[in-house]
Amino acid sequence: MTNNEDLKSRLIALTRDLTMIPSTESRPQERKRCFELLHHHIDQLPSIQIDYYDCNEHRSMVVRPQGVEAPEILLCGHLDVIEHSQPNCYHSKIEQGRIYGPGSGDMKGQIAILIELLRTLHTQQPGISLGLALTSDEERGGADGIRYLCEDVGLRCGTAIIPDGGSLNDVTTEEKGVIHVRVSHLGHESHGARPWLGKNALEMLIERLMLLKKHFYQWWPTQPVEEQINHWFSTCCITMCNTENTTPNRIPDQASAILDIRFIPPHSVNSMLAEITTILGPDCIVNPLMTAEPTNLEPDPLFCEVTTNITNQPVKLVKASGGSDGRFFRQYGIPVNLSRPLVGNLHAIDEWIDINSMITYYEICEAYIKQKLER
Ligand SMILES: [Zn+2]
Repeated sequence: MTNNEDLKSRLIALTRDLTMIPSTESRPQERKRCFELLHHHIDQLPSIQIDYYDCNEHRSMVVRPQGVEAPEILLCGHLDVIEHSQPNCYHSKIEQGRIYGPGSGDMKGQIAILIELLRTLHTQQPGISLGLALTSDEERGGADGIRYLCEDVGLRCGTAIIPDGGSLNDVTTEEKGVIHVRVSHLGHESHGARPWLGKNALEMLIERLMLLKKHFYQWWPTQPVEEQINHWFSTCCITMCNTENTTPNRIPDQASAILDIRFIPPHSVNSMLAEITTILGPDCIVNPLMTAEPTNLEPDPLFCEVTTNITNQPVKLVKASGGSDGRFFRQYGIPVNLSRPLVGNLHAIDEWIDINSMITYYEICEAYIKQKLER
């Protein structure tokens, strides 16, 4: 077997083993099983230390060279996958040079690559300043994972590599800011046959929300929106709408909605919150649930150079509508290289990762790490 074939079969095997484990939010035991499997792949490496950190039932694993608190390069991934309602769907198949299965592209295929990089480089050069951080809550925001590691544990590094966004030749530079917010409205209950006696909280809330939608439409492009072409504008989605009312003929005295707002600079979390509070008006109660500032990831030019050389194709610097764990590193000025192998159908049962691009991505990272640590 050539080196490449050996690497390929190792990456396929580990990806498929990981895909079999339904490491979802509702199954902490399965997430733990994932960590155990990966632990067995690396615990024999010379001169490394493996630490576990737990935050609200979410475990993270940090691997560093012995005696090195802040490695030069930190590989980052998350092993949690999203929940599917179909029974027994957590398995994989290989077709058309791709591994298909839940989580294969987000991001168990990438974790297999990170584990192989760690194994190979620490075997070749014991003590190399290369670490690995794996978390288990990225799909629900990363507060107990990378945020906890950076802000509470004090994890630092020179540069972070996160293969969870962009594409093989698309390196992400900017990510939109995020505001998840609960908007509530109070009213006055009455019988549904005599609406003039009540104040319908749900209807009043909907009116205010429609005004907000209209406000955001001013930024919507006149051309059809395409990812990475003209998607760089602020958006607002109503993702949930509730009332405690359970009676068809009662006018509700309370209603609330959840909004998912994505915004671009020069807006900040504070200025965007102020804007939506003004538009919603004094009768709406606005409660932020999760916020993140727009982020500039400042990818390492050397990473882009190496990507160009290995793929023989130019690198595109792209802006992303979604956020990543990268933002937590940026609070400490740590550059983030965010690109990945070719993936598709993310969060669907037929999610896939392209096998040849896994090898290419591995080669990009290997060359980058070696060049970076030689300098
Ligand atoms: Zn992901």
